Amino acid sequence: MDRMVFELPGGFVGDDGQVHDRVMLAPLNGFSEKMLAGRNNTPAPVLVTALLSRCIERIGSLNGVTEGMVRRLLVGDRLFLLLKLREMTFGRNIQAVIRCSQPDCGARVDIDFATDNIPVTRAPQQSLRHRLQLSPAAGGHLVTFRLPNGEDQEMLTQLLDSDEELAADHLLARCVQSIDAVQPPALAGIARLSAQAKMEIEEEMERLAPKLGSSMEAICPECGGSFTAAFDVQEFVLAELNTRLELLLKEVHYLAYHYHWSEKEILGMTRQNRRRYIEVLAGEMERLNHAF
Ligand SMILES: [Zn+2]
Repeated sequence: MDRMVFELPGGFVGDDGQVHDRVMLAPLNGFSEKMLAGRNNTPAPVLVTALLSRCIERIGSLNGVTEGMVRRLLVGDRLFLLLKLREMTFGRNIQAVIRCSQPDCGARVDIDFATDNIPVTRAPQQSLRHRLQLSPAAGGHLVTFRLPNGEDQEMLTQLLDSDEELAADHLLARCVQSIDAVQPPALAGIARLSAQAKMEIEEEMERLAPKLGSSMEAICPECGGSFTAAFDVQEFVLAELNTRLELLLKEVHYLAYHYHWSEKEILGMTRQNRRRYIEVLAGEMERLNHAF
C-alpha cells in the first residue's frame, strides 16, 4: 500500500505558530516491526512515538519529522494516527475478544467491528495556548494552558500507575502556562489550586482536545444482553503489532531462501506483501508435492 494523507482531528502547532493538520503516513514495514518486537517493557507512549516517527513523512508543510515533533502531537492526534496506521497495515476490520459485563454472564465474546465505528471527535486547533477564566467559586483566576501531548504521556506514564492524583497535578504543572500572569506556576502553584479550580481546567482541556472513542456497544451472543465494552485503541494496536521476533525472522529466512532477496530488501517490505509472497510460495510447494 502506498503513502496516504490524513487530516488530524486536532492539529499540530509548529514553532512558527502555524497549524499543520495534514499528515502523510507511510505503511509499516519489517524494520518497524523488528524495532517493536520484544519491547514489551517499553512504556506504550514511548513505543507510539518511535512507531509514528518512523511512519510520518510529513506534518502539513513540515518535512523531516523528528521524534520531538511526534511527542508534541496532541494525545488524540497520536491515537488517530496509530489507528490509521493500523488500517493501512491490517485493514479496517477488527476482531477482539471482550468479556460480557452482564451480571451472571461474563462470557467471552468475539466482536467484529470496523475501525470506522470508533468515533472521532474533531477539535481543530488554532493556537498552542488557550485561556480560561475560572469561576468565582474556583478563585476567579485567569489561566493559560496548552493541551496534553505525547511528551506528557511519556513523562507521566510511570507515575500514572502508582499515584493517579499526583500524576494529574504533574500534568497540570506541565500544561498550565500561567495563573494570573504568574508563569510558569510550577507544581507548588498547582497544588495550591482548589479541587474545583483543577476540575474546571481539566474539563476545559477535555472540551478542547481531539478524542477517539474508548468504548463501544456490544450484544452478547450468550445471554443476548447489551453492554458497553471498553476498547483501548493504543493497547489493542500495540499488542497486535508486537510480532514475535522469531516469526518475523522465519519470514525473512523463508523469503531470502527462495527468492534470494537480502534481509534489508525483505524488511523494507510491508507485512502484507511479505505474507503474499509466502502464500504464493506455499501454494507452489503444495502443487509440487501433489505432482509427485
Ligand atoms: Zn452475556
